[in-house]
Amino acid sequence: MECIFCKIAAGEIPVTPVYHDDEVLAIADINPQAPTHLLVMPVAHHANIAALSDAGDAALTAKLFAIAAKLGRERGANGFRLVMNTGDDGGQTVDHLHVHLLAGRAMGWPPG
Ligand code: 5GP
Ligand code: ZN
Repeated sequence: MECIFCKIAAGEIPVTPVYHDDEVLAIADINPQAPTHLLVMPVAHHANIAALSDAGDAALTAKLFAIAAKLGRERGANGFRLVMNTGDDGGQTVDHLHVHLLAGRAMGWPPG
């Protein structure tokens, strides 16, 4: 499968992870939209949160958010935003589930 995030998780494309264990990887976004912009993803390939939900891995879902929240608290003294773009209308461009962690500036609402 040609999946850029699977290649990163497998070490085929070198990155310096912000967080890494057997199940979860966090990396800096290549095109940051805020002073802190991390991508928190499962090592295993799931296309998006709907696919992970279908897979029934509630523990992995909880772990992703727990790690994203920990990283967000560490980096966003005044708060942070977690985003999961899902599908075409959701603006998803990489079909390997990832949570965007944005921090370091005040966010606008509604999002575009
Ligand atoms: P999406 O549009 O699917 O919500 O988010 C995909 C994100 O992945 C984008 O913010 C994009 O900048 C980032 N991205 C795409 N390719 C790479 C890459 O090769 N390395 C890293 N670190 N980020 C990437
Ligand atoms: Zn993948």
